[in-house]
Amino acid sequence: VSRRLKPFLDHVLARYNRREYLATDPLSAVYRYPDPRDQEVVAFVAAGLAFGNVKAVLAGIAAALAPLGPHPARTLTDLGPAAALRKAQGFNYRWVRDRDMANLWLMLGSALRAAGGLEPLFAASHSGAAPDTLVGADGLVVALTDLAPSAVDVTRRGTRSFLPRVSGPGASKRLHMFLRWMVRKDELDLGLWTAARPAQLLVPLDTHVARLSRRLGLTARRTAGKAMAQEITAGLRVLDPADPIKYDFALAHLGILGVCPSRRDPHHCSACPLSPVCQME
Ligand code: SF4
Repeated sequence: VSRRLKPFLDHVLARYNRREYLATDPLSAVYRYPDPRDQEVVAFVAAGLAFGNVKAVLAGIAAALAPLGPHPARTLTDLGPAAALRKAQGFNYRWVRDRDMANLWLMLGSALRAAGGLEPLFAASHSGAAPDTLVGADGLVVALTDLAPSAVDVTRRGTRSFLPRVSGPGASKRLHMFLRWMVRKDELDLGLWTAARPAQLLVPLDTHVARLSRRLGLTARRTAGKAMAQEITAGLRVLDPADPIKYDFALAHLGILGVCPSRRDPHHCSACPLSPVCQME
């Protein structure tokens, strides 16, 4: 199946994997900070809040970053529990409350003080010989949890949502998206990390990518969990073994931009570059 898709997906990649579509993506928040140390922690916050519709997500991310000022890494390194709660006061995005935001800031501050950032926490568990990033990603989350200051209650729902366990059955889209931003490098992804190779990344599976992948025959699964993400990634590896996830941003934005709507629409389909390979009934 996959090989036949390549020219069509390459076309979509050239057309949609572009900076001009960054404004509709949480990654846009990261580009407001020139220093890689800031970009890494900002990316973790932005990816962690990337659930819901794009407009609300971007507003939530802006509210989470504004109290940290122009140099978030420096601010977080020096942030204590009382100041974190004060700065977070009033933050409220879906199930993430001010205390959860403060908790994430405090964990990131601990990581900066203990390891200088997040990559060493990932690298401590990740192997270059591993088939994917699952063990390293789990190690990063466990390390962040272990480093949490005693004031942080990691059992709170909103706080746990920043600490997904990729060893479970869920797709953990937000954490895999963070890894994509850190490990891949192109016009959009930052490529700040060297601890993993793009070939090891798993697709950050959201509803758009799941729907498109079903329509393209990359998966027949109904549940958008880890098994589907692994299956889609395996299909994309046939197209590009060294960098399978390069198609993710473009596929997701076909959905986000409304190019491929959730319901069949002859008007959209007639202009769609994927229509020759789309299996939509
Ligand atoms: S042909 Fe239609 S359903 Fe298929 S990917 Fe394109 S817009 Fe979506």
